[in-house]
Amino acid sequence: MNFPFDANAGVAARKEALDAFLEIERNAPGNPASLHRSGQRAQGALEKARALVAATLDCSPSAIYFTSGATEANNLAILGFARSFLRLEGRPPSFLSSLAEHPSCLGPLRFLQQEGCSLQLFDLDKHAKVLPESRLPAQDTFDFAATQWVNNETGVIQPIRQIKALLPDSSWFHVDAAQGVGKIQLVSTLQQSTSLVLSGHKFGAPKGVGVLRLQDHVLLDPIFAGGGHQEGIRPGTESPALAMAFAVALDLAVKEQSTIENHWHILTQLFISKLSESFRPFFNHAPAGEGVANTLNLTFKHVDGRMLLPACDAEGLELSMGSACRSGAPQPSPVLIAAGRTTDEAKASLRISFDWNTTTEQVIEGAKRLNTVLGRLYNVAKG
Ligand code: PMP
Repeated sequence: MNFPFDANAGVAARKEALDAFLEIERNAPGNPASLHRSGQRAQGALEKARALVAATLDCSPSAIYFTSGATEANNLAILGFARSFLRLEGRPPSFLSSLAEHPSCLGPLRFLQQEGCSLQLFDLDKHAKVLPESRLPAQDTFDFAATQWVNNETGVIQPIRQIKALLPDSSWFHVDAAQGVGKIQLVSTLQQSTSLVLSGHKFGAPKGVGVLRLQDHVLLDPIFAGGGHQEGIRPGTESPALAMAFAVALDLAVKEQSTIENHWHILTQLFISKLSESFRPFFNHAPAGEGVANTLNLTFKHVDGRMLLPACDAEGLELSMGSACRSGAPQPSPVLIAAGRTTDEAKASLRISFDWNTTTEQVIEGAKRLNTVLGRLYNVAKG
């Protein structure tokens, strides 16, 4: 039995998405920009995929731009906005965001800050939830606010409605929804966002495809130069097969969301209760009732965090620390630190995230193995 409890890093592509991918690669292998018949067949498949995504997100197909993933979509929205704003307004824009953001959001924001744009950050609570009141009363008006929908590390659902309410209508409201789709119900605030980002491999499409949904009539400069694909906003040959796999996986993830959410609730409770049997203290960063049901983020007291991930891996437990591990040395999560953990606590933390196929048996046996690992490390730390 294996224990792939790292769904927030990405899940295996589902069969329906792979079938759709293969069907189009085989039957419509042309370049969708070519004017001949096979090009037009590929173009037809691409537009069919765009229409299906638009129907699921309740927007017009012209609002959908396919990208290589959420990283590219976040960069395109943030850097593309800044470039067009500067061109039209003649001054650098001001930004509002938080330290809970994924590096693909915070990275371009920091980059723009170095270039002279102002960047202000919301405070976070201990679950890495944005505190909108930390920017109230809004003394400053922001040209662009960027927030995630769900945090990838703690699973906390961000208060996107309250964040939107803080902003003047003229502000650009950007939502990185990479972690929310398929995990919680789509909400109307997402539709009100100026730009919305999705990542296919988080809900059963193959890796390498994402979507940027832009509100109609907004101005965004491209961040790379190329042909006129996707209205020149995202040049580069599109993959109709990846687009259709994305559309199929998104449709199924949204349709099956409430059923899987109930299943995850049962699994996370079961995991916590099995883990608690060992009486080793841990803190759960995943907020009860305010987070997605598939995610747990646990800090283990009196455990040397440096050994945690390799020891789990040796037991077949595929978990994450929530941040990249460079040359085998775990880096403490900047998100947990921003949420008030010490460096040692952040190092002794594990993100456990269940996917669409996780079974009760895997959870029971997985908790047992984690208990074994913790027992060993706990004794080492005490000794
Ligand atoms: N945003 C969030 C919230 C994420 O969790 C991730 C992936 N970890 C990304 C963006 C980047 O997604 P992708 O892998 O599609 O580039």
